[in-house]
Amino acid sequence: GRPMDAGFFVAWFEEAAGLVRRDRDRLTELDAAIGDADHGTNLDRGLTEVVQALAGSPPESPGQVLSVVGATLIRKVGGASGPLYGSVFRQMGRSIAEPVTLAGFAAAFEEGVVALERLGKAALGDKTMVDALVPASRALALALRDGVGTPEAFELAARAAAEGAAGTIPLQARKGRASYLGERSIGHEDPGAASSALFLAALASVAAD
Ligand code: ADP
Ligand code: MG
Ligand code: MG
Repeated sequence: GRPMDAGFFVAWFEEAAGLVRRDRDRLTELDAAIGDADHGTNLDRGLTEVVQALAGSPPESPGQVLSVVGATLIRKVGGASGPLYGSVFRQMGRSIAEPVTLAGFAAAFEEGVVALERLGKAALGDKTMVDALVPASRALALALRDGVGTPEAFELAARAAAEGAAGTIPLQARKGRASYLGERSIGHEDPGAASSALFLAALASVAAD
């Protein structure tokens, strides 16, 4: 597989920006059902800024790429998802050991998810992005245990995230705006879990190149 250098991480977020742009209206429609109909536009705006920031002064290391991504999302995305995603990638950037291996990626990703859980106080099953990101993190740990190669490990993580996102449909939201709906939040996919699945799909796609 290709080395997980700074260019790999830049390619990851360019691909994520493309997938979010493609699915912007779907994400916003999911948020219209149980939130305030801005998730697709929030994240599209944030990732457009991320791609611009990365192109303007290309960072030299994976940790720096992740720091730029995290800081930009925190600064530019109005709404809960900006600081939440921002904290994932900022913490991941602080934690990641270089040169990046699959084990190092998995450990840093888990640290990022822990930072998100600490900030948002959501647990698995609360119908948030946590429901896609935690299964992805667990899938990476299992892939490592099983000695799976990097592209396949990311593919498994992407599948776990997509299944986690679909799994939010029958849940009642307990965090974020959707929780205001109580039982009426049941029957809809959580927009943040759906966008988290796109971040993992982008990762798998870039690693498969
Ligand atoms: P806002 O709700 O402020 O309009 P967005 O629409 O951009 O922000 O993002 C909403 C998503 O953020 C939700 O679908 C959910 O996945 C995620 N979210 C909201 N609150 C939390 C939280 N406390 N912990 C984790 N994720 C959360
Ligand atoms: Mg919203
Ligand atoms: Mg909003």
